[in-house]
Amino acid sequence: MAKKHKKTSNNPCFFKRKREGRFHLPEATLCAQELEKYLQNALPALPLQLVGELRQGYETIQSLAFLVPLAYKKSTIEALENAPFLQADAPQASLFAWVGKFAHAGITVEVRFTEEARMGSEAFMLSASPKHLGIPIKQKTLLQIAVTENFATEEALYESIGWQYVPAEMREGGFEIDLARQKNLPTLLTVQDIKGILHAHSTYSDGKHTLEQMAQACIAQGFGYLGITDHSKSAAYAGGLSEGRVLQQIAEIDKLNAQLAPFRIFKGIESDILADGSLDYDESILQKFDFVIASIHGGFKMTPEKATERLIKAIENPYTTILGHPTGRLLLRREGYPVQMEKVIDACAQNNVVIEINANSWRLDLDWRWVRLALNKGVMLSVNPDSHSRDSLSDIQWGVLTGRKGGLTASQTLNALTTEEIASYFLKKATK
Ligand SMILES: [Zn+2]
Ligand SMILES: [Zn+2]
Repeated sequence: MAKKHKKTSNNPCFFKRKREGRFHLPEATLCAQELEKYLQNALPALPLQLVGELRQGYETIQSLAFLVPLAYKKSTIEALENAPFLQADAPQASLFAWVGKFAHAGITVEVRFTEEARMGSEAFMLSASPKHLGIPIKQKTLLQIAVTENFATEEALYESIGWQYVPAEMREGGFEIDLARQKNLPTLLTVQDIKGILHAHSTYSDGKHTLEQMAQACIAQGFGYLGITDHSKSAAYAGGLSEGRVLQQIAEIDKLNAQLAPFRIFKGIESDILADGSLDYDESILQKFDFVIASIHGGFKMTPEKATERLIKAIENPYTTILGHPTGRLLLRREGYPVQMEKVIDACAQNNVVIEINANSWRLDLDWRWVRLALNKGVMLSVNPDSHSRDSLSDIQWGVLTGRKGGLTASQTLNALTTEEIASYFLKKATK
């Protein structure tokens, strides 16, 4: 019975229906790209702008939204009505919006029309949180300014109030306000800043591709290094590595490093954090790794106090380099264990432990809502794909988006370090 339940809950379609029609980022992104490509073909001159939740980089997406100048309304609607992958939802439409659904995915899409002179005002209103829109400027809120004044671009709107342009991801009505006023916003991390992959699995544990295949995939995508982190011995369900297998993998890494230089494979492990907070091997094995990711994979039923204590004990372990997926959540599927995140972040700051933004679109954990606090406390973050196959290395894009929402920069990102820099970072941590 339990097995049957698990099978159902592993089916993404089940959760799509179950969780009030919210979608993971890759699915929403693919739909948006399909529509963009289709309209580009049908109307090559169409100025089409993505707005809404996807542009703002939320962890899950309810619906897609685009903005088009009013002059293109007739031709755009005609093209949309002819798109084989869309179903119009006439009752939801208005004079200024076409509304429909993606036939295969079920996600709603709204295409709004506005005067060319108001493109910036409307794009802004559709791509900022209520809190950001509610910020008072003299006698008006930002929303009222956008409603009553015409701006052709969002840049012009921010310029009119004397602010620096705020990227859509950051418009949450929090730390970005003062920074934008002071014209001191950070230069946000981009996918191009990521120099190497940390947190990936191979066929040694539950990955689909061999260590060499994973390394070759990293090389092909222009990365300088791969920090391989298969599961540790307690994760028997995921093919966790016995001490003997660890030694075997280390020998293979040495051999591959000699062949693949200057590319570098770092010897890592994703060590289970056991129920009492300890790591999964004794020191004689732990000291052989270049770095250790410590993660909880079992025993989720804990009080917040117990979960926090368990995490902090692992963070205080001198062998822990990175805290993996800090809450264990699976978006649209399961809540994580309850964590007193302020305390966990403080412990990471005190013990010089990096926090992972797990970039798998089911996780996005550390959540963007905590990114700013971690950065303010001086904690470094690492954008990790947790790849179980070479095809999922590109998941780092979702983690980068999550980091950008919290104002993450390249200089605060562990795997934006070059191969030499990260090698000396690991060495310094190990000798402390
Ligand atoms: Zn994990
Ligand atoms: Zn993992």
